[in-house]
Amino acid sequence: MSTDLEIRIAAINWLNEQIKIHGDVLPSKKLEEEIEFKGSRIPLVSPQGIFKPRQMELPLSITTTPHGPYEDSIDKNDYLLYKYRGKDPQHRDNVGLRKAMERNVPLIYFHGILPGKYSAVFPVFIINDNPSELTFTVAADYEHVVVESEFVLSENEESRRAYITSQVKKRLHQRGFRERVLAAYRSQCAFCNLKHSELLDAAHIVPDDEPEGTPTVDNGLALCKIHHSAFDQCIIGVTPDYQIKIRTDILEEIDGPMLTYGFQKLHDQKLILPKSKKPGQTRTNLTGGTKKSSRPDPQKHKTLKFPAILCIRN
Ligand SMILES: [Zn+2]
Repeated sequence: MSTDLEIRIAAINWLNEQIKIHGDVLPSKKLEEEIEFKGSRIPLVSPQGIFKPRQMELPLSITTTPHGPYEDSIDKNDYLLYKYRGKDPQHRDNVGLRKAMERNVPLIYFHGILPGKYSAVFPVFIINDNPSELTFTVAADYEHVVVESEFVLSENEESRRAYITSQVKKRLHQRGFRERVLAAYRSQCAFCNLKHSELLDAAHIVPDDEPEGTPTVDNGLALCKIHHSAFDQCIIGVTPDYQIKIRTDILEEIDGPMLTYGFQKLHDQKLILPKSKKPGQTRTNLTGGTKKSSRPDPQKHKTLKFPAILCIRN
């Protein structure tokens, strides 16, 4: 086995270990650490995007930064489009990726979700070079597979890769959704203030099987597990002016402290709103998107993406 391939396998095994520890979203500090390989230290990622450690013959990883518009990096067939380094197709990084394509070499794709947080997808393969658009087409393969030494791409595998890539795209988008929503709500439940992110979900306001149910912050609420379920079950809802409402039968029920403090006492309380990025900017996407307002504008409430109260059967 070539050294190049040995390092690739070591890198993927190391990533699998990290994912076991940290979950699907990896802190960039972790990724900046070098892995140990036969006495030398090898970094896995570079801010330049296309990265080839000096010990290797071909690139090991490609990276997209968190602020790239996500949709732009996907082509009409759901493949990822990866931008050339600069505009010169003959830049050594671009030449390296082209060689990786010709030899069908597995790469690692680091997808930036938020500053400092990445999801790793591997193995991925470069399947097309598009010089006129200065991009490479990238297909994902089974995630977290330990790489074998042979990579032969048959026609069947091509359609399999298209399918896997579109699944990976969905999953990345979902992962990004949770991270972005929790960050917007400062990692607390919008109903009860609970601040344990391990107990928090990003709930869709409009369910994700509806066309309006996009995985975007304007359609997200950070909720603890119990309030997420209760929200989906219409036990708890929110009015357009952010007042929490508890369903009448639940309000009248008599039971222990969970019901009293977890639900009944929240009735008519204010929802905790997502933070604004800067004063005067989007105070909350609950007002329907990128409104320049430092406080919720009652006039905008008609455009709210907030149908939840409709399902409270008072
Ligand atoms: Zn809660």
